[in-house]
Amino acid sequence: CGIFAYLNYGVNRERRYILQVLFNGLRRLEYRGYDSAGICIDDSSSPSPSPSPSPSLLPSPSSSVNGCPPLVFRQEGNIESLVKSVYEEVAETELNLEESFSIHAGIAHTRWATHGEPAPRNSHPQTSGAGNEFLVVHNGVITNYEVLKETLIRHGFTFESETDTEVIPKLAKFVFDKANEEEGDQPVTFSQVVVEVMRHLEGAYALIFKSQHYPNELIACKRGSPLLLGVKLLHQELNEDLNNGPALHDDKFLSKNGHPKELFLSSDANAIVEHTKKVLMIEDGEVVHLKDGAVSILKFDNAKGRNGGTYARPAS
Ligand code: GLU
Repeated sequence: CGIFAYLNYGVNRERRYILQVLFNGLRRLEYRGYDSAGICIDDSSSPSPSPSPSPSLLPSPSSSVNGCPPLVFRQEGNIESLVKSVYEEVAETELNLEESFSIHAGIAHTRWATHGEPAPRNSHPQTSGAGNEFLVVHNGVITNYEVLKETLIRHGFTFESETDTEVIPKLAKFVFDKANEEEGDQPVTFSQVVVEVMRHLEGAYALIFKSQHYPNELIACKRGSPLLLGVKLLHQELNEDLNNGPALHDDKFLSKNGHPKELFLSSDANAIVEHTKKVLMIEDGEVVHLKDGAVSILKFDNAKGRNGGTYARPAS
């Protein structure tokens, strides 16, 4: 019943800290009710650039080559039982909590089941299958999931959950594979994949996508369910500018890369305001793409069935 994501760009963060931010995000969503929870973080061998505390040594643009499968943890019950199971697995697998990432994209979810009983396999992130190529956390209900599921099964997909959500990451993989089979000079972008997925979805949703094909990137989109973006710049003076100055959609803060920053996505402002007061409400049909420290917001126009491309958001 809540989604949360945390992306640190050009700011060294240890895995231990990243986990804490994700768990705290979930704790702030707890009051809305839930029956299970889950998170996804990067594996130690993810192609994160080497740590760089100095802004002049910012990470180079992320590549679109395959990364390592992200790690997924899912648990029914309360947040603390997820926390406990994550730390148990961390200890068992000797995952290094001190490992530092200068870019890391983590996603998290509290679930209020609508389709499929509360169980680890039905918890989010839901995935595209073995290898976790595409992962999705979802709030809401996909009303046409049965038709989509039948079509995907005909194309060879097997389903592991009873959720409506599982069609979303599987559709993303289908779209991605199809685009790569077709001849083209340009590799398909993450936002192109998501816009194509949205074209097929009916119902209400706020979604956050993560993919090992697009390491260090996140995409969020919504229709009918709430979604917010929070931005925290790591240079004090820029942050003051941001807090006193123009609206958040000002180009200076969103589109420009290069400034170390922390980015948050959530269904609830509660999970963001402890980090930053600069929060932007995402509107229906908008697609938020976090990449290389820049935020771009695309408009998906469902009525016309096409991607409107980057657009200037009217000042509110
Ligand atoms: N409909 C999805 C499910 O049952 C998402 C529920 C939610 O918003 O938590 O898994």
